[in-house]
Amino acid sequence: ESTSAAVKPETEAESKPTDDDDKDDKAAQSLLNKLIRNNLVNTTNQVEVLQKDPNSPLYSVKSFEELRLKPQLLQGVYAMGFNRPSKIQETALPMMLAEPPQNLIAQSQSGTGKTAAFVLAMLSHVDPNNKYPQCLCVSPTYELALQTGKVIEQMGKYYPEVQLVYAIRGNKLQRGMKLQEQIVIGTPGTMLDWCSKFKFIDPKKIKVFVLDEADVMIATQGHQDQSIRIQRMLPKNCQMLLFSATFEETVWNFAQRIVPDPNIIKLKREEETLDTIKQYYVLCNCKEEKFQALCNIYGAITIAQAMIFCHTRKTAGWLAGELSRENHQVALLSGEMQVEQRAAVIERFRDGKEKVLVTTNVCARGIDVEQVSVVINFDLPVDKDGNPDNETYLHRIGRTGRFGKRGLAINMVDSKMSMNILNRIQEHFNKKIERLDTDDLDEIE
Ligand code: ADP
Repeated sequence: ESTSAAVKPETEAESKPTDDDDKDDKAAQSLLNKLIRNNLVNTTNQVEVLQKDPNSPLYSVKSFEELRLKPQLLQGVYAMGFNRPSKIQETALPMMLAEPPQNLIAQSQSGTGKTAAFVLAMLSHVDPNNKYPQCLCVSPTYELALQTGKVIEQMGKYYPEVQLVYAIRGNKLQRGMKLQEQIVIGTPGTMLDWCSKFKFIDPKKIKVFVLDEADVMIATQGHQDQSIRIQRMLPKNCQMLLFSATFEETVWNFAQRIVPDPNIIKLKREEETLDTIKQYYVLCNCKEEKFQALCNIYGAITIAQAMIFCHTRKTAGWLAGELSRENHQVALLSGEMQVEQRAAVIERFRDGKEKVLVTTNVCARGIDVEQVSVVINFDLPVDKDGNPDNETYLHRIGRTGRFGKRGLAINMVDSKMSMNILNRIQEHFNKKIERLDTDDLDEIE
């Protein structure tokens, strides 16, 4: 099969991601994930545990009662709707709440309950009668710090004696003052200033130090050094806890500098598979034809909800406009939107208020919209060099095995180049992608 190579109407500007899209950094992705997630991700994998002292017994709990939490905290946990500890919490919580305190490095994908776990540890360890900071928690950005702060407030709802303060730029305190709040949460730079330059915090009195989102943290210049400088001011017996969604070599090296003698907990990411997905491709000559093919597909089958991926903001905007004109309820996710705006768009889509979500590649990275049954690659995913981006392809249309519903993926091919990319994706996964004739759609569904 061949396609007409002559037609390549997209301009240079169209085929490259814009700078704005590139600015979409790890912190924004992480915040987006927090804003749209309101429950745990399903995990079938077992946690891997590496104990500092391999001879000490390993405790794991199946209920929050077993942890002997303060009643006010248990009440807070249940008020949040938690019935039982998540996979990672089963092992992490007993470790963090043990006496004497144990250090911990924990890695698991976002949405597995890390934040809730260390918030519970901090709240358990503070003495509300002492009116000075006892727990420090550093996050990569102001917005992420606020999100963690919200969890502390929710979980500590019935424990109002414990107070919280934000060490973030713009939060100016009077010189010479001493903080009374037991928990300080903030970004590394301000936290460091508050501990050393301004002495609002006496670091020698800190019992728990939490470093959240280590992988995001080290992506920002300076954060690594600032975190290490804070850590060095803390007493030897201070409990050090570090969390990360991913664990590359660089993160690991950093983790070991922050957390001496750690226990280590890792939870493998749920594997995505193409086994439960029907994959098709459609041959077209230009974006207008791709749009026509899309309309034909919509005319032929019932699509509850679809996500459509485009390479650029311009194409995404154009397509959303065309679809609206055809009376589709369309949501558009685009690079210039604030993270909060994006979260709102995704929530509306998840609630079924819109049936089609058009998005650029960059915007949708890391988003899971589980109930979407149809995914359309209006443009195939390619990396910066124009090679097939297999990982993104898998993440877009793949499902986590056991929980996955059957899905349908349709790829739009509009040039020799994209046909080549499709072939390489097909080879990579060793899964056939069938040709679909959109003028004769009987075979589909
Ligand atoms: P992470 O920090 O790993 O991204 P979170 O702690 O933010 O994960 O948890 C993800 C979502 O699951 C949040 O909405 C949180 O309120 C919820 N959650 C956390 N622990 C539990 C639990 N034990 N039971 C039910 N929901 C939970």
